[in-house]
Amino acid sequence: MVLTKCRTPLEWTELPDREPGPGEVRVKVAACGVCRTDLHVVDGELPDPHLPIIPGHEIVGRNDRLGPGVTGLALGERVGVPWLGHTCGVCPYCREHRENLCDQPRFTGYTRDGGFATAVIADARFAFPLGEAGTDAALAPLLCAGLIGWRALKLAGAGPRLGLYGFGAAAHITAQVARWQGRAVFAFTRPGDAGTQAFARRLGAAWAGGSDERPPEPLHAAILFAPDGGLVPLALKAVRKGGRVVCACIHMSDLPAMPYGLLWEERQLVSVANLTREDGLEFLRLAPQAEIVTTIKTYPLREANAALADLRAGRFNGAAVLLA
Ligand SMILES: [Zn+2]
Ligand SMILES: [Zn+2]
Repeated sequence: MVLTKCRTPLEWTELPDREPGPGEVRVKVAACGVCRTDLHVVDGELPDPHLPIIPGHEIVGRNDRLGPGVTGLALGERVGVPWLGHTCGVCPYCREHRENLCDQPRFTGYTRDGGFATAVIADARFAFPLGEAGTDAALAPLLCAGLIGWRALKLAGAGPRLGLYGFGAAAHITAQVARWQGRAVFAFTRPGDAGTQAFARRLGAAWAGGSDERPPEPLHAAILFAPDGGLVPLALKAVRKGGRVVCACIHMSDLPAMPYGLLWEERQLVSVANLTREDGLEFLRLAPQAEIVTTIKTYPLREANAALADLRAGRFNGAAVLLA
């Protein structure tokens, strides 16, 4: 499913089989999650997508061809391919073990072809072995919603009361991890979205309400998964002195002007960008221990545009997954 021009539908396109180059694998795709970032790519909200591009960066499939020099992966092995698709290994950030900030990165489904397809070529170093537990479709959302949520959760610190703004794919996984860690989760949805608030409570949220509401107790940290800059002052109001607000969005509408008093008393406002392989391996080890259960809505690959439209309109809880 190819995007040839931003703000136009993806097109079902027959392409010749591609061969993996040195250090690459070809993965036969079984399932690929649909992420809000895919919407940002399609909508032209991220700079310089490599058009034409096949979106999709929550890929679960099996290695079906190994390029020259690939070690540590086997043919037929189930792997997951995430958003971070390549790093240079030599820039200052890569050398400081902060490859999420690499100066020359490539991103799956944005600057290299992704998983809304029957096969994808991946840098073998960025294909995570997934083992055999769990279905392909249920695992797919872990590859971005789960991973970015995990990185955001680490940045949020260890405080016992955690707020999640925007209760979509990432929050529904992060809430389960936070509960497993023994934290209380406070879920903020669009005002009046009783269905999503009930969904959050079913996943163990101690409290769920509208983003315009104050939590019953001040929070130690809040993570923003909704790309709405207007939520920043609300989240700063909801955290206690010294609390931290983590923006986990790749794109956000402008932040409104706000009184400095909201940041005063050592409140912190930070963003989280991409992931490192270490985050990925750590999270994929932890996910089975935390017994994360993803809520998914599946679509045939050909219906990728319907999945994107449903995500845009908020027509389902949890995550959409395309089946190849
Ligand atoms: Zn680099
Ligand atoms: Zn994503």
